[in-house]
Amino acid sequence: MSSPNKPWPGVIRRYASFLPVTDQTPVITLHEGNTPLIPVPRFVEKIGGKFDLFLKYEALNPTCSFKDRGMTLAVSKAAERGAKVVVCASTGNTSASAAAYAARAGMQSVVLLPKGKIALGKMAQALMYGAKAISIDGNFDDALRIVRELGETGIAEVVNSVNPVRIEGQKTAAFEICDVLGDGPDFHFLPVGNAGNITAYWRGFKEYANAGLSDTLPKMMGWQAAGAAPLVLGHPVEKPETVATAIRIGNPASWDGAMNAASESGGSIRSVTDEQILEAYALLARTEGIFVEPACAAPLAGLILATRAGEIPAGSLITATMTGHGLKDPDTAIRVSGIVPIEVAATKEAVLGALGL
Ligand SMILES: *Cc1c(COP(=O)(O)O)cnc(C)c1O
Repeated sequence: MSSPNKPWPGVIRRYASFLPVTDQTPVITLHEGNTPLIPVPRFVEKIGGKFDLFLKYEALNPTCSFKDRGMTLAVSKAAERGAKVVVCASTGNTSASAAAYAARAGMQSVVLLPKGKIALGKMAQALMYGAKAISIDGNFDDALRIVRELGETGIAEVVNSVNPVRIEGQKTAAFEICDVLGDGPDFHFLPVGNAGNITAYWRGFKEYANAGLSDTLPKMMGWQAAGAAPLVLGHPVEKPETVATAIRIGNPASWDGAMNAASESGGSIRSVTDEQILEAYALLARTEGIFVEPACAAPLAGLILATRAGEIPAGSLITATMTGHGLKDPDTAIRVSGIVPIEVAATKEAVLGALGL
C-alpha cells in the first residue's frame, strides 16, 4: 500500500478497519510494521526440508522487535485517554518498545525488570529512551503481578499484553504475511513466552480469512524453551530458566489464547532444549546471514524436529516469526560463536600466516 514517494504509514493507519481506533484516536507511530518476509532456501536445504520457508523478520521494527506493533496501539489508546505514565513488566523488549513509544508521545515510561536477566541491548534501549527502570528482586511473573496492581491504582496505564489492545496491534503481522503471500501459509511457527503473540497471529489469520482476504488458515506451531514450558507441562513453572530470556516466563498471561490457537488450528505447542535453540540460532546466522535473538531460534529448532519426524508434507508453505534482533543480546552471541579474533602484526604475511595460507 506504500507508494514510492510516501512513507509506510505504520500498522494503525494501514489496518485501521481491523483495529479498535476512531478518527479521534491520536496515532503514536514510529512507522512500525511492513517488515520483510525473507525466503531461506539454504537453511531449509541444510535441515533436509522439502518445503518453502519464509521468515517474518520482525527485527526490522523501530525498536528491533515485534513488540512495536502492539505498543503503537497501546500508547495511542493511552494518549486518547489522557494518560501521562505507562508501565510494564518486561523481559526486555516490551520495555524497550514502551519506552520508545512513550518518548514519542511525550509520556513517562516505567519499566519493571526481573533482576539480572535482561539482555544488554534491551537495557540500553530502555535507558536511552528515558524509561524509569526498576529492577525487581524476582522473575518476570513477579514483575507482572506488581504491574497489574499498579494499573489498578489508576496511576499508570499498563502496556503489557494483559492490555488487550496489544494483541490487536500484534495481529497485523499475520495480515502482512497474507498480503505478501497472497494467502495464509500452511504452517506458522513462532516462539511462545507470555503467549500474546501466538494468540494475536491466530486472531489475525482468522480475521483476514473471515474478511475474504485469504483462504488458508495455518496450523499454529508454538515453541517454548524446555526450562520455561508451562503450556507444554500443563502447569505454571515456578523458576523458569532458559538462555532465550525473551521467553523465560513461567505463567503466561495469554494461556487460554495460546492453547486455543494450537487446538483450533490443528497445530501444537511443544518445547526445545537450550542446546537445540543455540544450534538453530548459529545455523541461521551462518547459512543465511540472518541474526536473531535466541528466542527466535526456538521455532527454528522446532522446525528441525518436525522435519526429521516427517511431520511437514513436501511442498508446504511455512512462515516463522523472527521476533527480535540478534544485536539485542550480544553477550549470548559472542559466547555461542566461541570465536576470538586472532591478533597478528600489521603485515600481509602475518595475516596470510594466521589464515594458514
Ligand atoms: C516478547 C517476545 C517473545 C514472546 O512473545 P509472547 O507474546 O510473550 O509469547 C518472543 N521473542 C521475543 C524476541 C520477544 O520479545
